[in-house]
Amino acid sequence: MSKYEINELYDHTQEPFHLKHLLTDLGERTLYDAAAQCNRCGYCETVCPTYMLTGRETISARGRNQFLRLLIEGKIRDTGSAEESFSTCMLCGACSSVCYAKVPTPDLVLEGRRSKDGYGQSLPARLGMNLLLNNRGLFEFLLKIGFLLKRLGLAALAGKLGLYSFIGMPSLGAAQDSLSNAPLKFLRDIFRMDTALSPEGKKEISWAYFAPCGPNYVFPEVGLATVALLKRFFGDGVFADNFCCGLLAYNYGRITEAREFAKKNILRFEELKDILGDFAIVGDCSSCVAFMKSYEQLFTGDETWRPRAKAFASAVKDILEALPAEKLHKIKGREPAEGETVTYHDSCRACHGQGIRSEPRAALRKLVEKSFVELPESDWCCGGAGAYAFTQTSLSNSVLDRKIKNIASTQAGTVLVGATSCLLQINAGLRKKYPSAKAVHYSVFMDNLTKC
Ligand code: SF4
Ligand code: SF4
Repeated sequence: MSKYEINELYDHTQEPFHLKHLLTDLGERTLYDAAAQCNRCGYCETVCPTYMLTGRETISARGRNQFLRLLIEGKIRDTGSAEESFSTCMLCGACSSVCYAKVPTPDLVLEGRRSKDGYGQSLPARLGMNLLLNNRGLFEFLLKIGFLLKRLGLAALAGKLGLYSFIGMPSLGAAQDSLSNAPLKFLRDIFRMDTALSPEGKKEISWAYFAPCGPNYVFPEVGLATVALLKRFFGDGVFADNFCCGLLAYNYGRITEAREFAKKNILRFEELKDILGDFAIVGDCSSCVAFMKSYEQLFTGDETWRPRAKAFASAVKDILEALPAEKLHKIKGREPAEGETVTYHDSCRACHGQGIRSEPRAALRKLVEKSFVELPESDWCCGGAGAYAFTQTSLSNSVLDRKIKNIASTQAGTVLVGATSCLLQINAGLRKKYPSAKAVHYSVFMDNLTKC
């Protein structure tokens, strides 16, 4: 019997490292059935950035789905031959948004990556995930040493010492130049000390703030702004004191750890729910929020955890959708100055991953009125895509260049984003090619407009 039987991309012994089934917009499907839903119409080629920039079929959504199908059918034996196709995908999801068959190409690509022998098994990946999962104190201590060296102007030394690789975040080392922040106090340190955000003595709340790793470790000002907004417009809430959502592990082949992260967060949610009843779990990085909304998919085939993951996912909200326009009111004098223009970039995991497009626009139109201008191709990926900017530098730069040209065409001074990797990536591009504009997180901008 061949290692790759029909409908099986991997050896049965590898099952724990893969998804059992995919939860597609058309229902629960095996990997093969989801890939076979692609009828090769090519409609996705009108939106897939890697295809549009290169014209190469093998790095289009249709090409990627075809590779996966051939691998499952055993018509290609060597997963290495599909490596370029899978590794160049930005997982942006633009293809799925326009696809009539709703083929979940990003999930299929990730399964394709995971089928490669040794994927996600490198020592830094294993060590980093293990530390973040089981010894967060040590992980944070090492990260702070790296940030301290950066502050002292010794960023290269931190890289040479292998600190970022050791904690499983080599891309953070590579991102040194783009990192203007290197906080020595993480958001979790701040919120755990804040008694107003503790569940102690509370009977009911309407929200719990989930701190994604971006705001927690790199942009604490984003989380501070989100919590200020939630307090201002929704009253009492708590800090969820959560773990990493698991997206990093999921995207880089460590699916067992992704499930462990999810379980820790689900347990924490259930613990709070027992005391405080129903509430929304609000996060402020669209990549993490979209992933948490898909927790159920991690547990298909596990009837104990699947319903618990589904309950958790249904409570999750992105700050981009949590602030309805009718609740918001600006404070006079805080609106953009006459002639100042604000635009909005649709982070991929907000628009394609969660379908969030109208809510932030409605809020912005109400608060900044004529200062708001639409960004051409606003849902064109920025090329950040986690570590993509460092693993596929040339493609990533081409994708980013198009984003920056579009921003420049609006003459905006402020570009609003909802994901922290977009914040890092777009600001890096703006600094080089259009320095009169700055990318700002939606929460920070909204907090500024509405605080007294
Ligand atoms: S992924 Fe969807 S849009 Fe693209 S070729 Fe297949 S069916 Fe058509
Ligand atoms: S996820 Fe993005 S880069 Fe990947 S195939 Fe789809 S549109 Fe192309």
